[in-house]
Amino acid sequence: MSDRELDQAVLRRVRRGDVDAENRLLRKQLEEFKEGALHNAEVLQRFNEREVALLSADGLPTLLNTLTGTLRRSFQIDELGVVIVDAEYDIRDLLAHAGTRADAYPEVRFVEDIAELSPVYNRLTGPALGPWVPYEHERIFRRQDLRSVALLPMERRRMLIGSLNLGSCEPDRFTRAQATDFLGRMATIAAVCLENAVNHERLVLSGLTDALTGLYNRRYLTRRLEEELARAQRYAQPLSCLFVDVDHFKRINDTFGHAAGDEVLRELAARLRCHLRSSDVAVRYGGEEFALLLPQTAAREAARIAERIRANVREEPVATRAGPIPVTVSIGVAQARPELGQRREVVGTALLAAADAALYQAKDKGRDCVVLDRAGGA
Ligand code: GH3
Ligand code: MG
Ligand code: MG
Repeated sequence: MSDRELDQAVLRRVRRGDVDAENRLLRKQLEEFKEGALHNAEVLQRFNEREVALLSADGLPTLLNTLTGTLRRSFQIDELGVVIVDAEYDIRDLLAHAGTRADAYPEVRFVEDIAELSPVYNRLTGPALGPWVPYEHERIFRRQDLRSVALLPMERRRMLIGSLNLGSCEPDRFTRAQATDFLGRMATIAAVCLENAVNHERLVLSGLTDALTGLYNRRYLTRRLEEELARAQRYAQPLSCLFVDVDHFKRINDTFGHAAGDEVLRELAARLRCHLRSSDVAVRYGGEEFALLLPQTAAREAARIAERIRANVREEPVATRAGPIPVTVSIGVAQARPELGQRREVVGTALLAAADAALYQAKDKGRDCVVLDRAGGA
């Protein structure tokens, strides 16, 4: 006899006034309610924990780790992937500035247009649970042996900013009939957290960059110098520093106006960037003075780079709205080879002082030239 047939038989006896049968039926129903309530409480508890993990992630790298690792473990799911819409590449840029890289998160996909990944995103208005459909899901997931999936769109202000995608090898793990309230709520929280983390990184970055040129500022240099010296110490490598100062910049301002002066600074910043490798650092150190850090570069090589920069600035006047402006720069070069046990603060200060002293020698020599600090810096 099935459960249902048994219940029907008990019901018939209850109708006949069998009090014992009625008691048994009520007790059974109570047990079922209790089980259901316990199950719901557990589910709620798990979702609460996931939400707390998302909300406590400080910064973009931590959030991405939580969105992938923490959630995958919590759901005990075969695949958990995150798609993030990043049409302008700025989220990936922010990650780079935060000291990590997009490819450090293999479960996170950055896309320019999410609909290119699957047509399903064009009609997604809330969580979509159901069986694996190759045509719709094969490009969203890495595994192709999944049997059921849950796509949880992340929306902010009616814009799809990404999607949390859960995939299972069990066909019944996600079904169309399943309630989606908790999953939908979690995706909303994930969306808010993502937006906050991106804004947080932007804010951090804006405090470390210079608004006029887009280069890093002096505060960033202090921080980065410490990191680069630590690396140089660890791997016994040289670290070079260039101080680049515009010659007679005051005259440029006086002759062509402050706005033209600003254009010159912006253009010089762009040219400096062009001469550098991605591991190098360019900083606007002061008004018309730039500092460059070249890791794994000895003084001689740094001086060659400095000479190329100097020659390029001299050869190509800066095109401004006030007309082409001839510009020259003076450059001081110094190098540090920090040894283990040396205090980085001391080495760093000495390196900057040596590059600065070399720059002043270049000014003394008549400007438009490169001077290499003979002591080799610190
Ligand atoms: P030197 O060859 O000895 O370096 O002479 P200089 O005129 O370049 O140096 P000085 O330090 O006397 O003048 C620097 C000028 O840079 C003074 C300041 O008004 C100008 N300056 C600083 N910041 C900015 C800026 O953001 N925009 C513009 N247009 N000018 C700036
Ligand atoms: Mg100057
Ligand atoms: Mg100056």
